[in-house]
Amino acid sequence: EFQADDTVVAVANSTVSSFGGSRLSVIAGPCAIESYEQLYESAVGVKTAGATMLRGGAYKPRTSPYTFQGLAKNGLEILKAVKDAVKLPVVSEVTDPRNVDLMVQYVDVLQIGARNMQNFILLQEVAMANKPVLLKRGNSATIEEWLMAAEYLMAGGCSQVILCERGIRTFENYTRNTLDLNAVPVVKHLSHLPVIVDPSHGTGSWRWVGPMAKAAIACGADGLIIEVHPCPEEALSDGPQSLTLNNFTQLMDELRILSAAL
Ligand code: PEP
Ligand code: MN
Repeated sequence: EFQADDTVVAVANSTVSSFGGSRLSVIAGPCAIESYEQLYESAVGVKTAGATMLRGGAYKPRTSPYTFQGLAKNGLEILKAVKDAVKLPVVSEVTDPRNVDLMVQYVDVLQIGARNMQNFILLQEVAMANKPVLLKRGNSATIEEWLMAAEYLMAGGCSQVILCERGIRTFENYTRNTLDLNAVPVVKHLSHLPVIVDPSHGTGSWRWVGPMAKAAIACGADGLIIEVHPCPEEALSDGPQSLTLNNFTQLMDELRILSAAL
């Protein structure tokens, strides 16, 4: 339905962690929750650098069934403990409609991953959870299909939707995905929902995360989600695209300058 004003998604009833409006919101943290120490160190580091929200997956949708699948409920327990200790709202991916009731007890925002963007049963179940939802674009989804997935959430009663461009599959293999920054101004034109960008999955390499994060802000994104790990070479998933805490801190300094200049 037509809506004249842009939607602002306030996470955990706070304007500090809101998406949309004039604020640049940055979600940061590891791809996967690996231990209390790993998540705590990440959380303190990203909060000090200026991140407004912590990410960390407990259920990992991995290409190979033989790689780390996430700590599941134990991961959620760690996430909640770190959230309470560090005082940052948290987002985590829900991969199964049967886990929605469990996950709402631990997270502030439910993430729908790229692989599940058109899992309509999951969308309908998540829509009923009464939590903001971060909806990633499927890696082969058109903008229209992505917006229709958002419609499933809104038709199901969830108006608090944050869209996330995370790269699409093209012929180009040098990068993991092709970050479709065209989608940012297009979706801002078509929709009232906030749009954030994930340069980590969008590029697949920590080297390109900074440049594409800046490009995302320059073209009008409402925020970013960035993978950060205290020791990327030891990460159990997505290490090659994870920033060190030092690199993340430096990037945040640059993003503040850029965003103030716009
Ligand atoms: C993630 O955020 O770690 C993730 C799996 O992202 P995507 O669904 O975009 O691949
Ligand atoms: Mn990841």
